[in-house]
Amino acid sequence: MKIVEGLYAAHEELTSWRQHLHQNPEIAYEEEDTSNFVAGKLESFGVKVHRNFGGTGLVGVIEGNQGDLQSGKAIGLRADMDALPMPEETNLPYASKRDNRMHACGHDGHTTMLLGAARYLAQTRNFNGTVYCIFQPAEEGGNAGARSMINDGLFEKFHMDSVWGMHNWPGLEVGRAVAHCGPAMAGADIFILTVNGKGGHAAMPHLTRDPIAATGMCVVALQTLISRQLDPFDHAVISLTKLEAGSAYNVIPASATIGGTVRTMKAQTRERLIREIETVAQNAAATLGCDVSMELRPGYPPTLNHEEDALYARAVITDMLGPDALETEMNPVMGAEDFSFMLQQKPGAYIWLGAGMDSENLHSPHFDFNDDLLPIGSSFWVQLAESKLA
Ligand SMILES: [Zn+2]
Ligand SMILES: [Zn+2]
Repeated sequence: MKIVEGLYAAHEELTSWRQHLHQNPEIAYEEEDTSNFVAGKLESFGVKVHRNFGGTGLVGVIEGNQGDLQSGKAIGLRADMDALPMPEETNLPYASKRDNRMHACGHDGHTTMLLGAARYLAQTRNFNGTVYCIFQPAEEGGNAGARSMINDGLFEKFHMDSVWGMHNWPGLEVGRAVAHCGPAMAGADIFILTVNGKGGHAAMPHLTRDPIAATGMCVVALQTLISRQLDPFDHAVISLTKLEAGSAYNVIPASATIGGTVRTMKAQTRERLIREIETVAQNAAATLGCDVSMELRPGYPPTLNHEEDALYARAVITDMLGPDALETEMNPVMGAEDFSFMLQQKPGAYIWLGAGMDSENLHSPHFDFNDDLLPIGSSFWVQLAESKLA
């Protein structure tokens, strides 16, 4: 391994920062103490800090001192800061001090790895251009801190050529990493179909347009979208998870609703399936003279690595950790990630950093970020920044 030397020396200190954050978790948009901690550290490294992006989000700006200072080259490195609303069951000496709050996804570690890199880059400035260290709120829970930062002008205020994200990954050995070419995480959306008919007496169905019978047709027809209309080499899930209709045994209701989730790996598949869900349901319901309207509640889009940047990340991984470090066989997962919003705006890639085979699963009440990763993750950021901005 070619870990940046100063980062191994800082391992103990980075560990103490990480465990401090672990002990003081804050959930989506409430990351006040965390944001203050990060800002205080960045300022102590001589990094200019810009606050209030997406509420508690902040950006540290580090200028290099190599080459032509007007080169204008710049990259964004992103860490998420939020914890989860759940109780911790680790019994660690630095377990959460806050009720129903826990860093069970390792964002305490992500924040620390980026802080470690920021200090090194601010001390050495051995690059030509600008590094933006993006600390975002609210990755968990569907309210997309990444999107909030973008809406607050992240990419207008700071010009970046590319953006990069990283997540610790249980089930992959420490010292190994993944950079998918293309989809890394799924997109997840909710849809609600309202089947509108005409209500009436249960004994006189011919005077009604029965939305319950129409709902049955819709449920069956929607099953065929994945099995009959999706390319078998593509990946998607449609699950119908909520049915609601009726108030009495002798009344045919006027309407019924079908709720569900659609998960996709590609932007085109997502758009197509959302369109098809409505069309198929409409056509199925029309056989009974009913209409369908659809409400879409958009979630996070699929996280799609740009191929050229994924290959770049792979080169940094093998250069830093050795040729066997790169894992290329791991499938993407159907979970979602809000870094996807940043990758919709800028080229870049999202990397999984092995957290060890014995690591608890993400979101487990027994999970703890593996501190062995701190110098590795920080070093990845430093080497990525120095090589992109050579
Ligand atoms: Zn999570
Ligand atoms: Zn996470």
